Amino acid sequence: MAFLKFEDIDKSFGENNVISKFNLEVEKGKFIVLLGPSGCGKSTLLRMIAGLEKIDYGKILLENNLLNNLLPSKRQIAMVFQSYALYPHMNVFQNISFGLKSEKISKDQIKEKVIEAAKILKIEDLLDRRPKELSGGQRQRVAIGRAITRNPKLFLFDEPLSNLDAALRSEMRVEISKLHKKLKSNIVYVTHDQIEAMTLADRIVIMNNGKIEQFGSPEDIYNNPTNIFVAEFIGNPKMNILKIKTQDIINKSTFKLLNKEIRIENSNFDREFYIGIRPEDISLEKKSEIAIDINVDLVENLGSEKIIYGHLDDTEIRIKSSKNIKDKNITIYLPKNKLYLFDNNKNRLKA
Ligand code: ADP
Ligand code: MG
Repeated sequence: MAFLKFEDIDKSFGENNVISKFNLEVEKGKFIVLLGPSGCGKSTLLRMIAGLEKIDYGKILLENNLLNNLLPSKRQIAMVFQSYALYPHMNVFQNISFGLKSEKISKDQIKEKVIEAAKILKIEDLLDRRPKELSGGQRQRVAIGRAITRNPKLFLFDEPLSNLDAALRSEMRVEISKLHKKLKSNIVYVTHDQIEAMTLADRIVIMNNGKIEQFGSPEDIYNNPTNIFVAEFIGNPKMNILKIKTQDIINKSTFKLLNKEIRIENSNFDREFYIGIRPEDISLEKKSEIAIDINVDLVENLGSEKIIYGHLDDTEIRIKSSKNIKDKNITIYLPKNKLYLFDNNKNRLKA
């Protein structure tokens, strides 16, 4: 039995169809990340799970119970927002315990739960402070604390780290990951940040225009993208995509790429298609017979690695390397086993 199940979900705002035919089954105990560009429907989907947005069509089931018509407070789901949603006039203790007041439990039990959550989140010393006396990261911990004390079946996170600076963001990322391991909680986490998705998720749902482009483990999505959208969305800098025009196809298994003839056994090229190669898979040492001379436009030095931006004719080529480049012209090598092939509809060609 799926822990969380979406059946044919459809949602529109007026004429704007935001989610269409959304189907997904999630196992218990998994950290699920919904990843996609801004406006693709991630928050809308999360809000439908929480009961903050009406579902036009389809079903959402949590442990086989239909959620559609349940009040938000009856769903046993806790949501953590990007904006933290803390009450400014309440201190940390009161903010964390806020959701517990409506439940019929004693003051002592409330205190126990708040202290337990505060310990997990390392904010025990801050219980008397008001939100304005806290840093961004501490506020986010308070918001998570409020979710933890409710002991929900499912946690929902909507871009919880996007208001934090880069250093805090990576620190909180690690904290959230540890929290998931410790509590073995079920999490659906929304982000547009591929690093958060890759580092946190057991499974990533790549969304685009209200639809699922791919559902899989981070490794699977990185290694086996099903189409060019996914291939370009995961990986930084993004995968190089080169179009092979029909006139550059020499025969079923040979084509011309940037003036080089390339042969790929057991292929069947007949119309235009695309070649993909990740910047980190391009080599500056002779590791392949596919050698291409390019012009270097810019080298970005990121410390341990460099990003080389070059071009051949009108095509930009991005390369990730540990080597520093001073030359204006270099030869790059494309290992054949690292090439991705996509058909003229931008779907992966099965090799
Ligand atoms: P994401 O979280 O992926 O950035 P959203 O789910 O917030 O995307 O929004 C998806 C689309 O739905 C956008 O086009 C947005 O403008 C629209 N939308 C979201 N909420 C509403 C609303 N309450 N009323 C009208 N349109 C909305
Ligand atoms: Mg959103």
